[in-house]
Amino acid sequence: MSGENFQVVVIGGGAAGIAAARRLAEAGVAALLIEARERLGGRAWTIADSSGFALDLGCGWLHSADQNPWVEIALAQGCAIDRTPPPWTRPSDQTGFPASEQASFVEALMSFRARVDAIGEDEPDRAAATAVKPNERWRALIDAVSTFYSGAELDRVSARDLARYDDSGVNWRIIEGYGRVVAAHGLGVAVELNCAVERIDRRSKQLRIETTKGAISAEAAIVTLPSTLIAERPELFLPSLPEKTNAAAGLPLGLADKLFLSLENPEQFEKGSRCFGHTDRARTGAYHLRPFGRPMIEAFFGGELAADLELGGEGAFLDFAVEELGGLFGRQLSRGLKPIAFHGWGADPLSRGSYSYALPGMADCRATLSAPVEDRLFFAGEACSREGYSTAHGAYLTGLAAADRAIETFGLAKSDLARTAQA
Ligand SMILES: Cc1cc2nc3c(=O)[nH]c(=O)nc-3n(C[C@H](O)[C@H](O)[C@H](O)COP(=O)(O)OP(=O)(O)OC[C@H]3O[C@@H](n4cnc5c(N)ncnc54)[C@H](O)[C@@H]3O)c2cc1C
Repeated sequence: MSGENFQVVVIGGGAAGIAAARRLAEAGVAALLIEARERLGGRAWTIADSSGFALDLGCGWLHSADQNPWVEIALAQGCAIDRTPPPWTRPSDQTGFPASEQASFVEALMSFRARVDAIGEDEPDRAAATAVKPNERWRALIDAVSTFYSGAELDRVSARDLARYDDSGVNWRIIEGYGRVVAAHGLGVAVELNCAVERIDRRSKQLRIETTKGAISAEAAIVTLPSTLIAERPELFLPSLPEKTNAAAGLPLGLADKLFLSLENPEQFEKGSRCFGHTDRARTGAYHLRPFGRPMIEAFFGGELAADLELGGEGAFLDFAVEELGGLFGRQLSRGLKPIAFHGWGADPLSRGSYSYALPGMADCRATLSAPVEDRLFFAGEACSREGYSTAHGAYLTGLAAADRAIETFGLAKSDLARTAQA
């Protein structure tokens, strides 16, 4: 690889990078996808448990599924789509959280969302926490839910950015795993795995891409690295690009981690139901009981709670889950819980978080981050998406857009070349 020359180098082999690299390859552009991990997919990652069940440690839900491009890709790959409505859209029979209380909470959540959506684009941005009604009795649980979908508490999250997020409300899943579909979409494109990009030097006409496997040159590059990594590494660009580093810093990755637990007596729970560990605090887990009817619990932790638990590793998550589930369903249940799989995305040096949110006042950083530089440095990745940030389909669409922009630029360059030859 070292010393080679490409038209376009795509940096980062997650949903965005794979989409971009595939589009470029289909257009006949000489492109290379460079990925630091030993696998493709990034934050889309499916593993199999000992029974062969696909477990998504990263993205699992096809959000806005009725418009989500991954649905068609999954079907084309021969995968099965589960269209059961997600547990958070249905009442659960949770102990200690009666149906009337659940309805009251859902109403409070919808009222909060309506207040966020009512904030005009011409008004100054502010923290989403300010859109919670004063004296709201469900404030803590609304905050907990924010840690699940933003990976951060509401006082850290931009209300404007939240209002811009677009969701059709249809959520499906892929039985064989979302991560598996994303990774498989990269089959056939030219990829260099186990190769980290250390610097993009644009001091010459050709870009010089310095990697852990040597330097290559390219006419253009598409950068799809997680925003946290762009923010932390100003030296990635030479000369530096402070507008990119600063925009990325305004879009940190929130934290959400999953722990899968096996259940000894699954029949005691309704298939695909859900409960919160507590309903009176933000520091609580959401527990998906028997996802796909399987004998397991998918536990979900977000925000500061997840960050604190990551300091103690998987054992701290297990202890926390056992404590909360034991409190709800009794010690006999919690004694039978065994960990199956876990990944701490905050400690993962190649993501350093789970999905991006915008800090208050920073919603427009998404546009700044995604803007091309000199028409040869393009940016993609979920953090670049105005309406689909934090999702795998948002990432995919930014990857396609960046590739199209690069192709357009090369189209111009080719016709220029033809004109020069004719003259
Ligand atoms: C726990 C969890 C649950 C989630 N749930 C959902 C969900 O239900 N639905 C949904 O739509 N989304 C969900 N997401 C978010 C979704 O997974 C991401 O938004 C999406 O996968 C991001 O894709 P990306 O291409 O932007 O970034 P990434 O997938 O992070 O891709 C960037 C790639 O760059 C690589 N890289 C890093 N540094 C370097 C370097 N120096 N050189 C080369 N390569 C490098 C990384 O290894 C990575 O592969 C979830 C994420 C997590 C963590």
